[in-house]
Amino acid sequence: MGAKKKHYEKIYKDFTADISKTFDCGRFCAPLNGGEPVCCDHGHAIPAASPAEWKVMKKRTDMWTRHKPVDDPQAMKEVLEIEETCRAIVCKGARHCERDNRLMACRSFPFFPYMTKEGDVVGLAFYWGFADRCWVMSNLHIVEKKYAKQFTAAYEMLIFADEGEKLAFMEQSANMRRIYSRKKEPIPLIGRKGEFLQVLPKSGGKIVPADPADYPKHGPYVSDEAYEAAVAEALEIYGPGEPWD
Ligand code: SF4
Ligand code: SF4
Repeated sequence: MGAKKKHYEKIYKDFTADISKTFDCGRFCAPLNGGEPVCCDHGHAIPAASPAEWKVMKKRTDMWTRHKPVDDPQAMKEVLEIEETCRAIVCKGARHCERDNRLMACRSFPFFPYMTKEGDVVGLAFYWGFADRCWVMSNLHIVEKKYAKQFTAAYEMLIFADEGEKLAFMEQSANMRRIYSRKKEPIPLIGRKGEFLQVLPKSGGKIVPADPADYPKHGPYVSDEAYEAAVAEALEIYGPGEPWD
């Protein structure tokens, strides 16, 4: 059994909360990326929709189109990999974003459902490969409880419907445990109800409460000075860029 159109229709209806009501996180990462929020820039990651999600989305809007790069070998390779199971699609960019027509991937980023070895969803972990670009990953205290609850409900429904999704997120979580254990660092985790947690390294996956002030900061977000220096450097590279709304 796989996820069906009805699952995505429900997700689009029920998973609508913002990560934060106070902060528009794109305002922090975009100045370092030529004015485009990092997760809306297809140069950083090509969005993917399952076949069922694509069927639902293409009836709702013309904002998304299939992505068929022809002159970029790296992008062509990525698309081939995505298309083994999903559809590689691109939107019209942040200046034309239709909030109600964001993919599951847009609503979730920068998080994936963190799962135990037993296959239970215990919260939200981040895609650590983006920690040097995504401001949220250095500011997890801003994540709203409502967002965490809607995220968890959406993914539990998806995982229950689709064994492949479940196995993929179990593997992703196991990889994260391995990598953080090797670094001897705890995994920062947002719990199912928005509580602050951490997975201890080399502990077999033991989860304990955390103080969000202790969560690490990354890349240009380690301090105000580092951020200001990175913005100045980006201005030289990209110029001022265009605001997206
Ligand atoms: S989720 Fe991260 S990468 Fe995306 S807009 Fe917010 S700060 Fe930027
Ligand atoms: S649909 Fe909106 S949130 Fe999703 S990638 Fe496009 S601009 Fe970003």
